[in-house]
Amino acid sequence: MGITMAREKILVVEDEDDILELIRYNLSRDGYKVRVAESAEQALSHLADEKPDLLLLDLMLPGMDGLDLCRMLKRGASTQNIPIIMLTAKSEEADIVTGLEMGSDDYVTKPFSPRVLLARIKAVLRRKNDEVPSDVDTISIRNLTIDPVRHEVLVDETRRDLTATEFSILHFLAARPGWVFTREQIISSVKGDDYPVTDRSVDVQIVGLRKKLGNAGKFIETVRGVGYRFRDDV
Ligand code: CA
Repeated sequence: MGITMAREKILVVEDEDDILELIRYNLSRDGYKVRVAESAEQALSHLADEKPDLLLLDLMLPGMDGLDLCRMLKRGASTQNIPIIMLTAKSEEADIVTGLEMGSDDYVTKPFSPRVLLARIKAVLRRKNDEVPSDVDTISIRNLTIDPVRHEVLVDETRRDLTATEFSILHFLAARPGWVFTREQIISSVKGDDYPVTDRSVDVQIVGLRKKLGNAGKFIETVRGVGYRFRDDV
């Protein structure tokens, strides 16, 4: 008796044939229902018919580019909840940051291995269904415990004294393991949108936080040129 899974629909927007074929082949083999579009305009016409469970979006497209499509979808009431994974070149760091701030869920840089792409897709789809822990839930990851009610952080059962800002940043990231956040998103979550922020001020907080967390500091990963992510798989 096999397990039948309802597999998700994925719309792939990519103008390079060989990459499109590689993605289509691997996703189909993994059981996903794949639709493809070679331009943002074509993607919009697919989206008018049918909403996918996830969008894989190349940023460099002929005609309307991927960021413009992302912006449009994240503003549309019927499309804003469709998770987006951007496909980017390594050199597109500024665009990656912009895309994440617009609400993209993740990104994969080319060239990518199909295995990595599939892992990211699974993570984003899983996340879509998971609830982020509430402000009163204790978060326990390996040897790290974060208790938002008592405002207490334990590493190996020893209390660490964090500042209020360090605590908020840690709680924000640890509540969403695997998600990449830009510095701007981290600071807005902690201080509100109007707080003046420089990249450096976020980095200083993270340095302080890692130092206080000791061996649990490794859970906070620097994503070069983009921001930070909490990893519970290191
Ligand atoms: Ca392209």
